Amino acid sequence: MKEPAVALIEGQDICKSFGHGRQSRLVLDRVSVAVNQGSCLAVVGGSGSGKSTLIRILLGLESLDAGSVCYDGLPLEGPTSAGYRALRRQASLVFQNPFASLDPRWPALRSVGEPLRIQAKQLGLGSESIRQRSLDALEAVGLDPAQFADRFPADCSGGQAQRIAIARALVTSPRLLVADEPMSSLDVSARLSVLETFNTIRQARPETAIIIVSHDLGIVQHMAERILVLEEGHMTEEGPTRQVLTQPRSPYTRSLIAAASL
Ligand code: ADP
Ligand code: MG
Repeated sequence: MKEPAVALIEGQDICKSFGHGRQSRLVLDRVSVAVNQGSCLAVVGGSGSGKSTLIRILLGLESLDAGSVCYDGLPLEGPTSAGYRALRRQASLVFQNPFASLDPRWPALRSVGEPLRIQAKQLGLGSESIRQRSLDALEAVGLDPAQFADRFPADCSGGQAQRIAIARALVTSPRLLVADEPMSSLDVSARLSVLETFNTIRQARPETAIIIVSHDLGIVQHMAERILVLEEGHMTEEGPTRQVLTQPRSPYTRSLIAAASL
């Protein structure tokens, strides 16, 4: 019999408000997610629907009012918990704006290798193996190291810079890759190149779990196994991608499908 898949990261009944008293606003209302090893979940919803807050809570970067988060079966309970420490070591993040997340003074190879240099002692890595892994990571995102290793962010297009940021996220071989709107600062052709990069990564690293956030369903429908739709902090929909696309339960999801760009 097939073993039931164990979630690498799981949030249950997450509730979150910002502000106090009469100013208090419920931003997430009993949101539950589970992402298995090797699976890709897309979190989709309009601006202000709570996507980034959910991601920050799942990563232990934001407190929650109710509910729980487990990483690899270990509860995330503050920065000293075993779950939080495992997640810090094993998860990588990609942000919306690559130019804000890359150091403008550093050539690509240095940025890509940075997470490894931070962990070099723990991992027992010398500078030559850091260099080699950084070159491999550039190659993995489709950037020719001969052309890009010494290139500064200012000399890259948005799509190229985002792929450098993705290479940096991958260089530690994370078990979980989280990308919050990684294409929304890019033009259409750059979006496609970054989307292709994600699909290449999925094939090359089938064990890696991915959570990708987007306000555009079209961007993520080709890479995610499951889709979670957030509407003003409520889970409007959660299910296998095909099911959400062909049998959307809510008018809100239907409107996202109609507005999808790809
Ligand atoms: P999304 O990523 O889907 O655009 P966010 O998770 O960033 O949405 O925000 C959800 C809601 O929570 C928004 O109304 C936002 O203004 C509010 N919010 C987010 N972070 C804070 C904060 N630190 N303090 C107060 N309100 C916040
Ligand atoms: Mg956001």
